[in-house]
Amino acid sequence: MITRMSELFLRTLRDDPADAEVPSHKLLIRAGYVRPVGPGLYSWLPLGLRVLRKIERVIREEMAAIGGQEILLPALLPRAPYETSNRWSEYGDNLFRLKDRRGNDYLLGPTHEEIFALTVKGEYSSYKDFPLRLYQIQTKYRDEARPRAGILRGREFVMKDSYSFDVDDAGLKDAYHAHREAYQKIFARLGVRYVIVSAVSGAMGGSASEEFLAESEVGEDTFVRCVESGYAANVEAVITRPPAATPIDGLPDAVVHETGNTPTIATLVEWANGAGLPEFEGRDVTAADTLKNVLMKVRVPGGEWELLAVGVPGDREVDDKRLGAALEPAEYALLDDADFAANPFLQKGYIGPKGLLANGVRYLVDPRIVDGTAWITGADEKGKHVVGLVAGRDFTPDGTIEAAEVRDGDPSPDGMGPLVSARGIEIGHIFQLGRKYTDAFSADVLGENGKPVRLTMGSYGVGVSRMVAVIAEQQHDDIGLRWPSEVSPFDAHVVIANKDEDARTGATGLARDLDRLGLEILLDDRKSSPGVKFKDAELLGVPWIVVVGRGWGDGVVELRNRFTGENREIPVDSAATDIAAALAAG
Ligand code: ATP
Ligand code: MG
Repeated sequence: MITRMSELFLRTLRDDPADAEVPSHKLLIRAGYVRPVGPGLYSWLPLGLRVLRKIERVIREEMAAIGGQEILLPALLPRAPYETSNRWSEYGDNLFRLKDRRGNDYLLGPTHEEIFALTVKGEYSSYKDFPLRLYQIQTKYRDEARPRAGILRGREFVMKDSYSFDVDDAGLKDAYHAHREAYQKIFARLGVRYVIVSAVSGAMGGSASEEFLAESEVGEDTFVRCVESGYAANVEAVITRPPAATPIDGLPDAVVHETGNTPTIATLVEWANGAGLPEFEGRDVTAADTLKNVLMKVRVPGGEWELLAVGVPGDREVDDKRLGAALEPAEYALLDDADFAANPFLQKGYIGPKGLLANGVRYLVDPRIVDGTAWITGADEKGKHVVGLVAGRDFTPDGTIEAAEVRDGDPSPDGMGPLVSARGIEIGHIFQLGRKYTDAFSADVLGENGKPVRLTMGSYGVGVSRMVAVIAEQQHDDIGLRWPSEVSPFDAHVVIANKDEDARTGATGLARDLDRLGLEILLDDRKSSPGVKFKDAELLGVPWIVVVGRGWGDGVVELRNRFTGENREIPVDSAATDIAAALAAG
């Protein structure tokens, strides 16, 4: 099929949209692939839709190759199953909830574990029916707190979600690995640079899970790698390698000091270095010697706010994402003035473990705060700190929490070397859910021995619409988009850059010949100047551009490669077959 630009529903824009910060977003708007409709809501115009459909095709092929069967569930769902799984409330503000005319509660599906589990329970009753792998490519809804970067984080987006059902753990492991490999094939075909990292399972529940992160500066996920061992994890999932506990016997007693106006770690360290503390003879006190207690309140969905204190070494900040992941599904908030007023024992800047524990505040600490470590920390009175407060002797926290920031150079959890960090965009997430949902719905089938067995489940997502932006993000250059052949809206973009009627007719004929050879052709037959057409061709990003220009009279056309910039002359007589051969060779 030939698509003529003179008829194509497309207007390219010369300027970047005012609200766009990320390159892929700017370019997809400027090149007329998508258009905004509301926050996190986008329309797909012809070129964008063609790319989306090609990504879907690659995914369908690779899902079929591992025995996946495609079905399609509604996006509008009744409340009851999500009530049963507890996600009606656990999903929090991200869930779009609505009512029908009778006042019944509904939701717009953010992901579909519940309905898949119920569907399989409804159809199958014997172990003989398994393993089973089902998937859909469907529009999902999430009321994201910060819709961002266009289709990268939308409130309506397309996801491929698959679900595996097995009668035993070995089956689940097989399904998980089959998906892992299918994803590697999909992302390789789409030309995406990515890493596979350990992840936390979050609201989804279940045990083992890994994320596929596309490497990108504009990504919202941070991951760390250990070059020596190959360990890679989302920072949310990094488990701190704690120092060994040290003996408590013989450690000096804790001493409370008047420290003056020292409400920050920096002022406290300055005081400590001027105080001539015998515990630190021969070395400087650093922020790492202090214990910082960060106060917040947390609330499980549907519950009441409760105070929580998180203790971290004073040289580290609490990382919002790690804290959020550690507390999920509970949410947290900083304390306001009213909270401090209601809890007068909280002396801002001087909060210590003793006051927290004495007043029943839940107190979780960084794993580095092992028994036998001594700290400079608040003494719960304005202007006072305690030196030499020993964990396991002077205070015993309620537990540990992985909330402190992970830094470049921190030891890898496997002890093999330092960690280095980079940013990425989540493009896929695979979970071994186990029986969380099949337990919720009592999804049993008859086992080989005649007894019922509970199904075990996996769930596996790919961000299909997000992928359009990810590829644009990784492949674009200064002048526009660049699509790998597998997903390009067209195979070749034929530009008529010659007013001569003969050349126009020739170009149309060439387009027709290329079309007959099975190539998808975009033909720029507009009356615009060659300069405008070249700029548009570069912006739209079809990987091969055929220019029917001045050379036509001399019997040549030009074939340009959008990635390499390479430019070759092709004789008109054999143009169609030569071009098709060049495209096939890549
Ligand atoms: P994120 O951490 O980016 O919010 P998630 O962990 O909530 O993603 P999953 O529930 O694992 O996402 O969903 C599966 C896939 O769907 C993700 O890997 C991602 O590629 C895609 N996805 C999730 N949320 C969005 C969104 N708001 N817009 C576009 N794609 C999304
Ligand atoms: Mg995820």
